[in-house]
Amino acid sequence: MTSSLENCLQVIRPLVKALQAYHVADAARLIKLDAMENPYQLSGDLKAELQVRLGEAALNRYPDPSAARLRDRLRQVMQVPEDKAIVLGNGSDELIQMLAMAVAPDDGSKVSLLSFDPGFVMYKMIADFTGIHYAGVSLNADFSLDMPATREAIKKHRPAIIFIAYPNNPSANCYNEKEIIEIIETAPGMVVLDEAYHPFAQSSFMPHLTDYDNLLVMRTVSKMGLAGLRLGLLCGHPDIIEQIDKIRLPYNINVLTQVAAEFVLDNIDELDKQAALIREQRSDLLKKMQAMDSIKTFPSDANFILFRVLNKNAGDVFESIKQQGVLIKNMKADAGLLKNCLRVTVGTPAENDAFISALIKAMKSEK
Ligand SMILES: *Cc1c(COP(=O)(O)O)cnc(C)c1O
Repeated sequence: MTSSLENCLQVIRPLVKALQAYHVADAARLIKLDAMENPYQLSGDLKAELQVRLGEAALNRYPDPSAARLRDRLRQVMQVPEDKAIVLGNGSDELIQMLAMAVAPDDGSKVSLLSFDPGFVMYKMIADFTGIHYAGVSLNADFSLDMPATREAIKKHRPAIIFIAYPNNPSANCYNEKEIIEIIETAPGMVVLDEAYHPFAQSSFMPHLTDYDNLLVMRTVSKMGLAGLRLGLLCGHPDIIEQIDKIRLPYNINVLTQVAAEFVLDNIDELDKQAALIREQRSDLLKKMQAMDSIKTFPSDANFILFRVLNKNAGDVFESIKQQGVLIKNMKADAGLLKNCLRVTVGTPAENDAFISALIKAMKSEK
């Protein structure tokens, strides 16, 4: 007789057993430049006022299931066109999941989700566990879109959804706007522009929502300084959003998130100033990195920088930087477009300096 534990494990889908869990590095006691977080908190006055609001929140009650007030504030601040609808997610990760669940096959037939590699890992991961075929189109060596390959892949796979991260993670660039428009115009299904890094790119497809019914624009408050809240939004045609909203669990945006997000959105100047600071520090950091001939730095429209280690092993450099107290991200690629690449988030000037010193020292070391 098999044990009850074995029985339990037996009923887990093989597809799930084959998944790799999403790994988050332990950053205890390290300068954290690995996850594209904003290094700044709210200023003292705002923090104190937020504390009062949170203290008044009715934790004994379920949250407003539609978060109507919060959606209104987001519509204003993010300039969502009047006639488009908004659905909220517990982070944009949850919105990606809701989109996938909305198109996943229930009869074993093939449904495809198309995106670009190297790209945001959640698209493939969520496609995998919802039983959707992931069609990844390789980018060019400079991380621009390979349009002939993209046209081919769209024809071949007829994707239900195309995800375009704008700017892309981990390469940090915005793709060519005309090429994206061509994709939207030729796509047989939905096209989602994932604008997680919008405060740093300041270029958006939000105004194009008016032109295309199959276009959806996704934003998040994570990278602009509220990663702890877990709040993302998907904007698009009301008839599409209505369907996606059916998959949303009723109380996915909790009371504290609704209160805190409304408060911060009422004081959006503060986050706008922080984003401007980060953009300035990005160019400072980029200049310092470009001055080093032992690395190749890629341009950035986001709050992070991708770079390639030349004539040294990126894993060794990553470890050396970590030993010196700074955590960045190792792309762990021995080949391909990310070969020997590392990714660093733009931090405060002091954090960036600590990173630069550690990087210089790592590049000079014997190993
Ligand atoms: C970080 C990131 C997200 C995730 O955002 P959350 O709202 O924190 O879930 C989505 N898309 C891209 C491209 C990202 O880099």
